[in-house]
Amino acid sequence: MRLDKLLSNMGVGSRKEVKALLKKKQVTVNGIVSKDSGEKIDPNKDEIAVNGEIIRYQQYIYLMMNKAPGYISATTDKREKTVIDLLGEDVQHFKPFPVGRLDKDTEGLLLLTNDGELAHELVSPKKDIGKTYFARINGKVTVDDTAVFREGVVLEDGYEAKPGELTILQSDAISEIELTITEGKFHQVKRMFEAVGKRVIYLKRLRMGELQLDPDLKLGAYRPLTESELAYCK
Ligand code: URA
Repeated sequence: MRLDKLLSNMGVGSRKEVKALLKKKQVTVNGIVSKDSGEKIDPNKDEIAVNGEIIRYQQYIYLMMNKAPGYISATTDKREKTVIDLLGEDVQHFKPFPVGRLDKDTEGLLLLTNDGELAHELVSPKKDIGKTYFARINGKVTVDDTAVFREGVVLEDGYEAKPGELTILQSDAISEIELTITEGKFHQVKRMFEAVGKRVIYLKRLRMGELQLDPDLKLGAYRPLTESELAYCK
C-alpha cells in the first residue's frame, strides 16, 4: 500500500495534506524520515509515525448506532439527512455504510461498517437472523394477532410474511409490543400491523441476532462494536 494512501485512509489528511507533511519531514517509516508519498508500506509490519505519533493501520470499522428519527439509512442523499451525517470525521474517512435499512422515522440499533462481506452476510435472508423491534401501536393488539403473526401474516400485496414472534407488553387503545422477525422487507413491521388493521406509531429496533442495542447510547450516538459483539456478527 502507498504511504500517502495509508495516511489519508487513517484520517491524517487529504493526499495533498499528507504530501505536505512528508515534505516537512514529519513522517517516519520504521524510525526513518520518509519524503516519498509513493513509498510501499506493509501496514501489518511497518511502523508509521507522524510527528512521533504512531499511526495504527485499521482497515475495517464496525459501529453500533442508536439511529435517531429524521435520518435515512443511506450514505448520501440530495435532500435528506443520512445516518452518515451523524458520524464524526474521525470515522467518516473509513467510508462506512449502514447494514440494511431502518425507515426515516424508525429509531434504534443500526450497524455501520465498511466491511462489505460482513454486511452481505448479515442481511442475507439465508441467515435468518432475528430482528427484534419495540413498537407502539394505534389500536388494541390481541392474542389473535399473535396467532396470525405466528402463522405468517399475509401483507396487502399478497406476500406471506415468515412467522413472527409477537409479545404483547400492553394491550390498550395504544398498545406496546415486541416483535421478532427474520425478514427485512420494505416497511415490514408497519405492513404486518396494517394487515391486521392497526398502525405503528413508534418503532425502535432493539436487537439483531445476539447483538443488543446499548441502552447507554443516546439517540444519534454510536460507538465501535466490542470484540465480543463483533464475534456475534461473524
Ligand atoms: N419495519 C418497518 O416497518 N420499518 C423499519 O424501519 C424496520 C422494520
